[in-house]
Amino acid sequence: MIKVIKNGQVISMDSNRDKIENIDIVIKDDKIIDLVKDYNGEYDELIDATNKIVLPGLINAHTHLGMSMFKATNDSLTLMEWLEDKIWPIEDNMTDDDTYYSVLMALVEMIKTGTTCSNDMYFNCDGALKAIKEMKVRSVFTRTLADINGDGESRIDEFMRIYNENKDNPLITFTIAPHAFYTCNENYLRKCSELATELNLPVHMHYNENRGEIEQTTKEYGKTPLEVLKSTGLINNKLILAHATFITDEELNVFKDKDISFAHNPLSNLNLGCGTADVVKYRNYVNICLGTDGVGSGNNLNMFYHMSITDLLQKGKYEDPTVFNSYEVLKMATINGAKALGLSNKIGSIEVGKQADIIMLDMNNILTEPNVDIINNLVHNALNNVDMTMINGEILLKDKKLCLDINEKELINKIYEIIDRLS
Ligand SMILES: [Zn+2]
Repeated sequence: MIKVIKNGQVISMDSNRDKIENIDIVIKDDKIIDLVKDYNGEYDELIDATNKIVLPGLINAHTHLGMSMFKATNDSLTLMEWLEDKIWPIEDNMTDDDTYYSVLMALVEMIKTGTTCSNDMYFNCDGALKAIKEMKVRSVFTRTLADINGDGESRIDEFMRIYNENKDNPLITFTIAPHAFYTCNENYLRKCSELATELNLPVHMHYNENRGEIEQTTKEYGKTPLEVLKSTGLINNKLILAHATFITDEELNVFKDKDISFAHNPLSNLNLGCGTADVVKYRNYVNICLGTDGVGSGNNLNMFYHMSITDLLQKGKYEDPTVFNSYEVLKMATINGAKALGLSNKIGSIEVGKQADIIMLDMNNILTEPNVDIINNLVHNALNNVDMTMINGEILLKDKKLCLDINEKELINKIYEIIDRLS
């Protein structure tokens, strides 16, 4: 099956090419096989991209898709107040079926806003995986690991089960995800590190989300967060550290020689009053990608919204508009995410040989016209412009309509039923 995306303005995110090119993309089954001007070979399906922008699918490098039903539920609570009062009591009663519907809603939002891969950690994994497989979205998935009441082993067992059952699925890869220092302990973290080494998987965890967390770690462990990374062996794993809001020079100097990425979550950090990560500084030491966090604190899964905030926040923090730019943010949301997840040979840019995870935007709209500075305009204004989403060569959104068999009205009603039952 040959598909051709023809005549689009392609932002490939391949550093060896021009930033924007008028070029045709030839896709065979699940892979990009050619990038060529004025393709005139054979095809089975033509996707007319005239006057449209074509991008690699966006990569959400830190999220909790199962929290979709908690959308925008934090107004004026601290991280711990919100978790302890609003989230954990409800999560305690969530079933696999509830998580299935919550993840389904998250995936619809992602497909409609151009995210083709997410780095997810949550629980009720069977429900989540059922939704992910039905919706055919690329997923870096895991069971969140924590050892709060000595029940950490059972979580690792559950992880091993879902890993073994799904590791051959071409759309699903895994991380090992100790939730955070405050929900784990040193022995347990060491186990997580060893398991990640044994299975050759990245470690995905929350790290230094706010100052309180750093103080708590230092008090409970008698060690700084950096010392805990070292004593548990985690420092030598491939790490995706979510948030990394406050990072010392000492940490940066150690991290720069390791395989470490920060998943920046600016909206969640602002909403929970956690602070502002110094991305301008940190990017000199580590790979930085972009996440939404769960929608309870991150409000939505629309990466365009989060990209805009990322750019503005750094310029404001430094009182200097020259420190950041839209293309750099786009890198965070595409190729840098792929690098963090160990998938840069497969996704993150439009290149021959990579998987066809591609999105198309129609900017012909009063909110995005005139479209003169294309990259800046799309990073800041294209909140509702994705009109085609393709994952692994399959079109999941066409002319802004889902190509999957799903009734959105029924889905929303189902979510309300779940909220009523659990609250
Ligand atoms: Zn998180």
